[in-house]
Amino acid sequence: MRILIVEDDPVLADGLTRSLRAADYAVDCANDGAAADHVLAAQHYDLMILDLGLPKLDGFEVLRRLRRRGSRVPVLVLTARDALDDRVKGLDLGADDYLTKPFDLPELEARVRALIRRGQSGGASVLTHGALALDTAGRRATLNGEPIELSARELGVLEVLMLRSGRVVNKEQLAEQLYGWDEEVGANAIEVYVHRLRRKLEPAGVTIRTIRGLGYLLEKSPHA
Ligand code: CA
Repeated sequence: MRILIVEDDPVLADGLTRSLRAADYAVDCANDGAAADHVLAAQHYDLMILDLGLPKLDGFEVLRRLRRRGSRVPVLVLTARDALDDRVKGLDLGADDYLTKPFDLPELEARVRALIRRGQSGGASVLTHGALALDTAGRRATLNGEPIELSARELGVLEVLMLRSGRVVNKEQLAEQLYGWDEEVGANAIEVYVHRLRRKLEPAGVTIRTIRGLGYLLEKSPHA
């Protein structure tokens, strides 16, 4: 799950980034409206947290351009206290929810979870692959209907592999789904997640093949 934070207050941006990363989201941060507009046109996000008062391009304009491009990314707007007009205008422009500053981080996290769930229920939220099913909205995987224990990052890797099953997925594509721009991705981290997934899935006949030099491929074992 990848989130874009658009906030020009460095202290707030940093606090939000830390708390969402601690909750296992991949987080990117833009500190002005033009940078946000640029990255939104190029990268898929599962949620945007948008401050309205921004340098270069204000939050309303970022939102207007995003919706004009047809994007349905859920947007949580941050507004100043008593700024009723801003809230109304934001919702009219296609924001999904708003939060008044100052806010508590647990409340923000609850809103984030709700919006991501809602955003995902729009598309097919259960991916299946043989006996394996992944509920992307509920963040749960099952094998033959039995829940399997997976960490948030293992679920992230599995989601990408299932979305592209039968095709080779490289490590960069996996890292992109799991990490923000400025997070250090250990060269071995992806290998470790894939290794753990294999151990959990292979007994049920679900095989993740390593294609040397290219990446990974999810395939059903012939015995399945
Ligand atoms: Ca601001």
